[in-house]
Amino acid sequence: MLTESEILRYSPHLLLDDVGEAGQEKLKNGKVLIIGMGGLGSPAALYLAAAGVGSLVIADFDTLEKSNLQRQIGYQTADIGASKVELMKNRIAQINPEIRVRTINVEMEASQLQMELMMVNLVLDCTDNMASRQMINAACVQARVPLIVGAAIRFEGQLMFFEHGHPDAACYHCLFPDQKEQTLNCSNSGVIGPVVGTIGTLQALEAIKYIVGLPSGIKNRLKLFDGKSLDWQTFKITKDPQCSVCG
Ligand SMILES: [Zn+2]
Repeated sequence: MLTESEILRYSPHLLLDDVGEAGQEKLKNGKVLIIGMGGLGSPAALYLAAAGVGSLVIADFDTLEKSNLQRQIGYQTADIGASKVELMKNRIAQINPEIRVRTINVEMEASQLQMELMMVNLVLDCTDNMASRQMINAACVQARVPLIVGAAIRFEGQLMFFEHGHPDAACYHCLFPDQKEQTLNCSNSGVIGPVVGTIGTLQALEAIKYIVGLPSGIKNRLKLFDGKSLDWQTFKITKDPQCSVCG
């Protein structure tokens, strides 16, 4: 049952046939782990908090730097030097005090990640490097936890959804088998803020759709966003039977 306060807060959801009170209850029971509280994680966490996802675990071991403010819209100049997850937890509490937030302020080893995955329904990978994405993917495959991956660099964005646990699900490693590829990141190649924001926002949208039970258009798909033309390209990700992670 939703409280009176929740009915007021989430009334725009309740008006939607695709969400309604039943969908809002599912959001309230949702448990999502968001790894990375940078340019992707900022909008993803804020939108999921605002939407009433009842339990968020946010992970990042960084403190805020001045150059983060160009795209990491959860933070303010006065916050420089402080822990991102603590800042985000406070920010979320201001937006929506009706949900629970737990922070992880260390760089997770695979073993800790495995433990965390037992307590959530869904993971959003909002990290900024290939090594982290491969580790998170492998852990989600093993734990059979669905994974929504975002990435952005320069004017280009990437979005993927792997429903790990589903027999046909491909994985991030099927798509990028060479872990040494792609050492580019925002710090060494640059990025335009709204492209990161677009991808992080769409990770939140896909998460909400998944939790309320709406179909996703991007399962086993790679969506590439061109921030200059605003065109999207879609590629099917074929499960690699020889994949060393999911095969
Ligand atoms: Zn695979």
